Amino acid sequence: MLRNNIEFEESLQDARKVFYEGSLVEDVTQHPILGVAAKHASYLFKWQNEREYSDLLACDDVTHGRISSFYKIPRTPEDLKKRFELIYQTTRLGRGMFNIVKAIGSDAIFALMLVSRIVDAEYGTEYRKRVNDFYEAVVDRDLALAVAQTDVKGNRIKRPSEQVDKDMYLRIVERRDDGIIVSGAKAHTTQSIASNEIIVIPTRSMSEADKDYAVAFAIPPNTKGLTMISRPMKASENARNDPSLVIGNNNAENETLTIFDEVFVPWNRVFLAGEWKYAGLLASMFPTYHRFTAIAYRAAMGDLYLGLGKLIAEHNGTSETSNIRRNVVKLMTYKETLRLAGNGAADFAEKDGGSDICVPNRVYTNVGKLFANENYLDSVKNLVDIAGGLASTLPHSNDLNNPAERPLLLKYLSGAMPGKTEERIRLISTVREIISSYGALFTSAMIHAEGSIEASIIELYRSYDYGESKKLALFSSGVNDTL
Ligand SMILES: Cc1cc2nc3c(=O)[nH]c(=O)nc-3n(C[C@H](O)[C@H](O)[C@H](O)COP(=O)(O)OP(=O)(O)OC[C@H]3O[C@@H](n4cnc5c(N)ncnc54)[C@H](O)[C@@H]3O)c2cc1C
Repeated sequence: MLRNNIEFEESLQDARKVFYEGSLVEDVTQHPILGVAAKHASYLFKWQNEREYSDLLACDDVTHGRISSFYKIPRTPEDLKKRFELIYQTTRLGRGMFNIVKAIGSDAIFALMLVSRIVDAEYGTEYRKRVNDFYEAVVDRDLALAVAQTDVKGNRIKRPSEQVDKDMYLRIVERRDDGIIVSGAKAHTTQSIASNEIIVIPTRSMSEADKDYAVAFAIPPNTKGLTMISRPMKASENARNDPSLVIGNNNAENETLTIFDEVFVPWNRVFLAGEWKYAGLLASMFPTYHRFTAIAYRAAMGDLYLGLGKLIAEHNGTSETSNIRRNVVKLMTYKETLRLAGNGAADFAEKDGGSDICVPNRVYTNVGKLFANENYLDSVKNLVDIAGGLASTLPHSNDLNNPAERPLLLKYLSGAMPGKTEERIRLISTVREIISSYGALFTSAMIHAEGSIEASIIELYRSYDYGESKKLALFSSGVNDTL
């Protein structure tokens, strides 16, 4: 059953243990800063009940009736295209801010569906049924999900079992008749504070010595022993002093260091427990779905930067100059390359024979993700080059609202459209928000979130089919007579 935003926000009031800037947070929805992240997540629940957006965010399912479109299992390239559009459009509705709480969890569930079937076939386990039961509960109760994959990792060169402190990767510390006990910590868990369940999966491949680290499960965030330590949300803190900063005041996501101190997980919520050979498959299947999600939301961010760049160029009177035109086209290329990669990944999706689930094409997905990683900061450079120095030196909105200063600012900050100076100021102020209070988040997220640059390079290098290229090289070099 589809929930509304009020029901969703109430479901977060469950005594989960969250710290923000050194203080325990009683209720994330009422917290002045974390409340922005909770509210941002709640928009998905609001929009799915509104006539204007319900066709995008909800769909009919033969078993469950009306469900969230995020939870529709992709069975055809067309389903993947719709999923891309869903993530792209909800990010646009979020003013360029991704809304993760249904996307990331469904990415993980699809990966778990594929991998659990293979694990069951080898070990006679019942993980596929458990994953399915969990999926049914998520759909029926319309839950919000976070995914904790990235371990804190300690010394990056050493395997989990080689670490001096054995808790550097999350692990099973005890197996009981009724479930497992796990300890360790996951880093950068997006919107754990605004989720109803946290899905945990391994971050890497494992060897036999690492088998206690080959673990996957799902638990509610208020489970005993779970502590979430939030990052500071500078964009929302800054926006509290400036109502004109609409993104920071309305659209923000949160990340936590998510610590598991002897947390009990009942068996029916355990999806992998020691089958080390398959940790790597799960660790790579989830990012395949999640990087497809990434190129969709990053294309929408690109759309925002393109719109800002083009409008500011028009305000500045520079929109027809060759240098600014080049910047605008670079912004356009960033956005459209990601859309192309998404379409390619859907069109050339691979079908998992055993489960009839579509997997986005790995090459097009990772090529798109790598392009997004490597070109984001260039997009910011293009946008800032268009905007000029005001992107850093613009006065505060309080100055614009002060009658003593307002006429001066409207006169001296006007561009090529004197009657629309306030619009120019707001557009340039948004650029400043992106590069300043959102700067640290976006800079690091666009390089690392959904896997670092190297992660896509490794995936591409090892999964690419070089057959045709090698044949052509041998034919062209005269080694072979036929192609
Ligand atoms: C905003 C944001 C949101 C995120 N959300 C989530 C989330 O919701 N859930 C989740 O699970 N994760 C999340 N992540 C984590 C993200 O996937 C990781 O940041 C990414 O995988 C990099 O891992 P790391 O941060 O530990 O960096 P590191 O692994 O320390 O990487 C730093 C650098 O070291 C290199 N490096 C690391 N190990 C080696 C090695 N053995 N050999 C050679 N080079 C190496 C990397 O390639 C990289 O260049 C998020 C990250 C960000 C920034």
